[in-house]
Amino acid sequence: MPKRKTKHSEKLFAEALQLIPGGVNSPVRAFNSVGGKPPYIAHGDGATIHDADGNRYIDFCGSWGPLLLGHAHPRVVEAANAAAAKGLSFGACSPLEVEMAETLASMVPNLEKVRMVNSGTEAVMSAIRLARGVTGRNKIIKFDGCYHGHSDSMLVSAGSGLLTRGVASSKGVTSGTAADTLVAPYNDIAAVETLFDANMDEVAAVIVEPVAGNMGLVKPAKGFLESLRKITAENGALFIFDEVITGFRLGPTTYGAIAGIEPDLTTLGKIIGGGMPVGAFGGRADIMDNLAPKGDVYQAGTLSGNPVALAAGLATLNILQEENPYPQMKEMSAEIAKTINDRASNAYCANLGGMFTIFMSGSKTPPKNLDDVKKCDTAAFAKFHSAALDSGFYLSPSQFELNFVSAAHSPNDIADFAEAALAIIEKLELQAKRQ
Ligand code: PLP
Repeated sequence: MPKRKTKHSEKLFAEALQLIPGGVNSPVRAFNSVGGKPPYIAHGDGATIHDADGNRYIDFCGSWGPLLLGHAHPRVVEAANAAAAKGLSFGACSPLEVEMAETLASMVPNLEKVRMVNSGTEAVMSAIRLARGVTGRNKIIKFDGCYHGHSDSMLVSAGSGLLTRGVASSKGVTSGTAADTLVAPYNDIAAVETLFDANMDEVAAVIVEPVAGNMGLVKPAKGFLESLRKITAENGALFIFDEVITGFRLGPTTYGAIAGIEPDLTTLGKIIGGGMPVGAFGGRADIMDNLAPKGDVYQAGTLSGNPVALAAGLATLNILQEENPYPQMKEMSAEIAKTINDRASNAYCANLGGMFTIFMSGSKTPPKNLDDVKKCDTAAFAKFHSAALDSGFYLSPSQFELNFVSAAHSPNDIADFAEAALAIIEKLELQAKRQ
């Protein structure tokens, strides 16, 4: 296959390395997990992106999830342009804030009140503070392999044993902060019960990705989320669904609403901004009313509820309701999974709705937690990723991430990718056997 041209991207990356730490504004973009240098994306259009060297890729990263309608959807761009022409920011109340709150409340049954912020990180950080403020408790239970943004209390991973202190997963997070975050394996109810028993009346909330995406796609085991709902209620702790990825990804609502599970708080981001920087958190009114200025839990933002971001988000949500692209996206990711799972002996493709991860797992058993996905061959994934790029497919640059099908992908895009992915996997297997 012809090698991609990379001269312009490499030059940009070299310049970026001089001025931006690691050359990037978010670590995973540096391609450290897959090797090679990142292509610099110059523009996007529907399901395709084009880099600074003129290479064209079918994009399955979709800006890590927001672009459910594809790149530069004309109605979303038009809505953002129209809002921008009326003023980029007011730092004052504006009509679109009310429209967004009404839209979210109408699409998500348990979102009685909602507050807009600027990122998923901010949404989670604020929901955690609110949970602590409302319950008067300090500790939070999270799950190994789930990512909830980069606020201090969420950058904590499991210690050496369940009951040992959580370990800060970044320098700069104090041991005091890490000590207040307890970490259980995903899909392990017994572990959560043990943590509640050992921290009686101290746990403010349990936070979970209801479908885990940040260790690659790991589905909740049957009854896992229902049991968490029950345990949190019995112990006076709040239950937080982090739906920054899953919100509006699997249907025109949250995963909680689809699964019939009612968390106390839900965090949102990505799709509800249509590609603009947005987050939100919301839930029961009696909880949300503890936020300032009504209550004593402080939370604020100069650009929160920004009119341009909300216009793009509202256009996206309206289109989703009008066009319901979900069945088509589900079918497409199922086709990719079927091709890999029926025909590749060494890889497993997990899929749900329009999300999928191709695990270089050497096994056909769906992973159930971080320990399982860690068994994947990351060196093989790096080779797979790089060959996919050379073949014109841009995948999320890490084994432990999701890929996304958008409403803009065509059946041909999917068939081409599935066959190309299979051919690359088979070739890698052959090379591995020869070694
Ligand atoms: N929560 C989840 C589940 C996420 O996947 C992410 C980011 O990928 C975040 C929170 C943080 O969102 P952001 O990157 O917008 O701060």
